Amino acid sequence: MDQQQQLLREVFGYPDFRPGQRHLIDSLLAGRDVLGIMPTGAGKSICYQLPALMRPGITVVVSPLISLMKDQVFALVQSGVRAAYLNSSLTERQYHKALENARAGLYKIIYVAPERLMTPGFRALSAGQTISMVCVDEAHCVSQWGQDFRPGYLTIPDYIDTLPARPVVGAFTATATHEVKEDILRLLRLNDPQVLVTGFDRPNLYFGVLSPSDKYAAARNYLETHPDKSGILYCLTRKTVDEVTERLCADGFSAVRYHAGLDAEERRQNQDAFVYDRARIMVATNAFGMGIDKSNVSFVLHYNMPKNIESYYQEAGRAGRDGSPADCILLYSGRDVITNRFLLEQTEPNPDLSPEVQQQLRRRDEERLRQMTFYATSHSCLREFLLRYFGEHPAGYCGNCSVCLSGFELVDAADAAACVLRAIGSTGRQYGVTTWMDLLRGAKNEKLLHSPLVSGAAYGALSEWERDQLRALFSLLLEKRLLARSEGDRPVLSLTDAGRDFLAAPAPLMLHRPSAPARAKKPAPSEGPIDVSLLAQLKALRLSLAKRAGVPAFVIFTDTTLEKICAAQPKTKEEFLQLPGVGKVKCERYADAFLDLLEKSRQNHS
Ligand code: ADP
Ligand code: ZN
Repeated sequence: MDQQQQLLREVFGYPDFRPGQRHLIDSLLAGRDVLGIMPTGAGKSICYQLPALMRPGITVVVSPLISLMKDQVFALVQSGVRAAYLNSSLTERQYHKALENARAGLYKIIYVAPERLMTPGFRALSAGQTISMVCVDEAHCVSQWGQDFRPGYLTIPDYIDTLPARPVVGAFTATATHEVKEDILRLLRLNDPQVLVTGFDRPNLYFGVLSPSDKYAAARNYLETHPDKSGILYCLTRKTVDEVTERLCADGFSAVRYHAGLDAEERRQNQDAFVYDRARIMVATNAFGMGIDKSNVSFVLHYNMPKNIESYYQEAGRAGRDGSPADCILLYSGRDVITNRFLLEQTEPNPDLSPEVQQQLRRRDEERLRQMTFYATSHSCLREFLLRYFGEHPAGYCGNCSVCLSGFELVDAADAAACVLRAIGSTGRQYGVTTWMDLLRGAKNEKLLHSPLVSGAAYGALSEWERDQLRALFSLLLEKRLLARSEGDRPVLSLTDAGRDFLAAPAPLMLHRPSAPARAKKPAPSEGPIDVSLLAQLKALRLSLAKRAGVPAFVIFTDTTLEKICAAQPKTKEEFLQLPGVGKVKCERYADAFLDLLEKSRQNHS
C-alpha cells in the first residue's frame, strides 16, 4: 500500500479510489496541472484534498459558494485535517484571526472565495507562505458559456502570477461541454494539463418516468411508501413549490420549501432544516441545490419536467451521493412542455448579444427542450438515453430504470409505422396523439363515433396494440422526426418530409415496445436483514454527536456507513476502523460511543 492509499483509508476512511481519482491525484503530486471533469457525486474533492496533505506548504482551494466551503471544511476538520475558509460569512475579527493562524502555518488547506484572492490581506499572506497548489472547484464558473459565470474567477491566473513560485494548478467541474472546457483551459492558463473525463454513469441511481393523471397523488404515494427517506421534490415554478409544500404539510409530511422569491432568512432556515435532517422533504425550484453536499438524499422527484437534460441530470444527480441506491423519478405531463415553452419565451434577451446569436441560442434552447421531452416519453432504456446525450456509448439495457424494469421487446414496427403515417398523411393536421391512438385502436368513444374517420381504413387498424405500445410507437415516430407535433395548447400531428420518404421506401424500424401488459414496477431493493431498531438507535446517536459538534449528521458518518456498522456490529476499535467511511480520526473520536451502543444492544437481546 502506498502513501496515497494509506491516506485515503486513514483520513477519509475509504478502502479504494473511485475511477479517475487516482490518476488526477498522481498527476498533481507529480507537479502537473490537471483538469478533472467528473459528474456530481463522483468524488472530485478528494482529488485535491488528498494531494494537499502530501504536498509541502498550503493548498488554496477556490470555491464559489459559502455553504460549499463550510461543509467541506467541517468535514475535513472532523477527519483531522487542518483546514479553514475565508469568505464574507466571517466577521472582520474572525477573518483576521484566520489570516493570523494561516501565517502561523496552522492550516494545510485554505478555502477562499475568488473575490478574496487579490485583496491585500490575502496577497500578503500568500507572499509569505509556500502555496504549493491552487485548486479551482466548480471551474466552469470561469466561462461565460456556463450557467454560473462568476467574474471573480477571471482573477485566478493573476493571483497565481503574484506568487513567488508557480504552484501546480488543478481545475474541477461537472460541466463537460466543449466550449466550457476550452474556456477553462485558456482562461485559467493551465499548463500542459492532464485532462481527465470520467464516465457520467451513476450506477446506484434508478431512473424512472411516470405520467400520472394526478401528480400530487403520485408524489404522495411515493413519499408514503418511502417513509424513512429524505429527498428533494423539484417544481418548475415558485407557485407550484408553494402549493405542493402546503399540501404536503397539511397531509402531515415534514416538508420545507425553497425558491428565489423567499427572503434570505427563510431560505437559510429551510435549507438548514433539510441539511440537518430536521425536515425530510425539500420542495424547491432549480434555485436550490448547487453546493448542497447532503450525502443521504435518497430520492429526487421532479414534479415537473425541467427545461433540458443538463438541468435534469444535475438535479437528479443530487441523489445518492454516498453511493447507496437512490431514486430519480420524473412525473411528466404534456403541460410541462407548454410551461417550459412559456418560460423560454419569457427569458429576457441579453442586450450584449447580436440578434443572430440570440436566435441561435433560442433555437438551441428549443432543441434541448425537445430532447428533454424525448427522454420523458422514451420507451427505451432511460440511462442509455442520458449517457448518449452526454456523448457516451452505453449498452442498451441497464436493468435499473423504469423502462428496463418494465420489460420490453425489440420489434420491427415498420408496418405499423407505415399505417400510422399513411393515416395522418391523408388526413392532414387535425388531431393530437390521443385521438390518433383511439382511432387506430378502434375505440368506441363519443368523439370518434361522430367523426367521418370511423369509416376510414385506419379505424381499428392497430387494434391488437396496447395503449402503452402505441404510445411508444408515436414517441419513436416523433423522435425520428417522421411525424411533427405543432406547438400550442392542443398540439396536432402532421407528416414530415422524412415521413413521406419513409412511406415511399419503408425500411426496418426497430422499436423497444413495452411487453403487454405493460407495468412500470421496480422490484424491492435486495437488502440483507437489517435491524431497523438498531439502525434507528445508531442514527439517534449520530444526531446527538452531530449536534454537539455543530455539524450536519452526515459529516459524522453517512447513512451507508451507519448501515455497515449496523450489519457488521463491530466489537473492537480495530473492527470499527475496517468499515468503509471510518478513518483513523473519526475512529478515535466516535468508536467508543458507537461500540458502547452496540454492546448495550447485544446485552438487551441476550
Ligand atoms: P463531487 O464534488 O464530485 O460532486 P464529492 O467530492 O462531494 O463529489 O464526493 C461525493 C461523495 O462521495 C462524498 O460523500 C464523498 O465522501 C464520497 N467519496 C469520494 N471518494 C470516495 C471513495 N474513493 N470511496 C467512497 N466514497 C467516496
Ligand atoms: Zn435502463
